[in-house]
Amino acid sequence: MLADYISDVSVQGIKKFDLPKLEQEAKELMVNDGISDELRFKSIIELYIESGLHVYSPGSLGRQYTGNIPLSAITDMVNSVVNQPSSFYEASPLPCVAEKLMAEELNRFLGFDKDEFAMFSTSGGSLANLTALLSARNTRYAACRSKGMAYVGKSSIPSVAMSQDAHYSLIRSLEMIGIGRDNIVWLPLNKNRQIDIGKVSDTINKAKKNGSDVFCIVASAGSTPTGAIDPIKELASIAHTLGLWLHVDGCHGASFLVSEKLSHKLAGICEADSISWDAHKMLSVPSPCSLLFYKDRKKALNTFGKPASYVATDSGCEYGAGEMNFECTKRASIMNLWILWSLYGRNYFACKVERMHEACQEAYEVLKSQPDFATIHKPETNILCFRYIPGKIPAGVSMSDFQCIIRHKVCEQGRFFISKVFLDGCNALRVVFMNHKHTLDNFMELLSEIRAIGHDFKQ
Ligand SMILES: *Cc1c(COP(=O)(O)O)cnc(C)c1O
Repeated sequence: MLADYISDVSVQGIKKFDLPKLEQEAKELMVNDGISDELRFKSIIELYIESGLHVYSPGSLGRQYTGNIPLSAITDMVNSVVNQPSSFYEASPLPCVAEKLMAEELNRFLGFDKDEFAMFSTSGGSLANLTALLSARNTRYAACRSKGMAYVGKSSIPSVAMSQDAHYSLIRSLEMIGIGRDNIVWLPLNKNRQIDIGKVSDTINKAKKNGSDVFCIVASAGSTPTGAIDPIKELASIAHTLGLWLHVDGCHGASFLVSEKLSHKLAGICEADSISWDAHKMLSVPSPCSLLFYKDRKKALNTFGKPASYVATDSGCEYGAGEMNFECTKRASIMNLWILWSLYGRNYFACKVERMHEACQEAYEVLKSQPDFATIHKPETNILCFRYIPGKIPAGVSMSDFQCIIRHKVCEQGRFFISKVFLDGCNALRVVFMNHKHTLDNFMELLSEIRAIGHDFKQ
């Protein structure tokens, strides 16, 4: 069943939107009514496959999520069976070694000083972002780990500068680490939805005059709404001049680093203080597998206090991230990445991300020549946002609501799963090319489906 599932690349999205009905079906599978365990297990797998987003299909265009490299099925099974607690070197030798080797391997593309940098895996990019912001905070306010944020006093307000397109995990992180969402200094965007570099220094200086102590700038390298990449090199230079931490949220786009053709888009990234990178997005390894890099290992070690005496850590030890990482039990997700990287090599991953990027560019070029569609941005990565603007839309419906209606109908029909995003006061359709098998024909089919839905509306 799973093999069929992986090899089925027909166009499909999500079939079962009726969750109460799904709950009922699932509940029935828990009841002991005499069916064999084999049949029950089979039915559960069937229901999971049938009800879900078909992540291997070119119809799955809605999320930065994808089918895994098929061999992941085996590597992940090995990982589940051997099941090492990978935070501490003592109890998890090979995952800690694999983490060190992947750090060195991927740092070839990042370019940090190999004697000073640090990297460890986290369960998700959100946690990587939170951890990085905490390191930035503790670097500026050295005593807050022991004394709390109150010691900073009221005379200046700790703040972080970022754009409105930064991922929501960053805003939540600031809520969690005592900064507060009201103390974000919003950096204006240019028309490509990148941080407008010409306005950064002024915005930060103005905030300073108003009592904000900005300690960190966040750049998105592949923003979630549109995939825009902020000007990292220029932001690094400003951060350096002003004595600020630069965090690059590369959860989505850092995978471009493995491609010689695309890595230039992240030029200057080695000047960041920290970088988050989701291998479970464009590198297509089982989720979560996120990586957090630091330029300076000492700062990574300053994020948290020592763990308890019952776990082994040793700051002189180059293996194991127990001292830098919040997680105690941590799945050895690095093993999937390390095994697959060892087997397939860089070129395989590079080809994959290049195809995702190319599929998006092809779609954009076609879209520009369609009079009933409006492009919004020139895509930098593999995310494309656009609006459907036929001559006539239903009376009483705003253009913004119309996009949502279209999106909902598309998803309901079950062939394509797409998302939406609110940009400049109006919703837009959003597609993410996460599948290297995606063809331009698939995208043209999506446009036809949208037109057909729009046509039904007018009648
Ligand atoms: C996906 C994403 C995140 C969150 O990462 P998770 O692994 O989903 O927790 C953060 N920032 C950006 C830019 C992302 O694309």
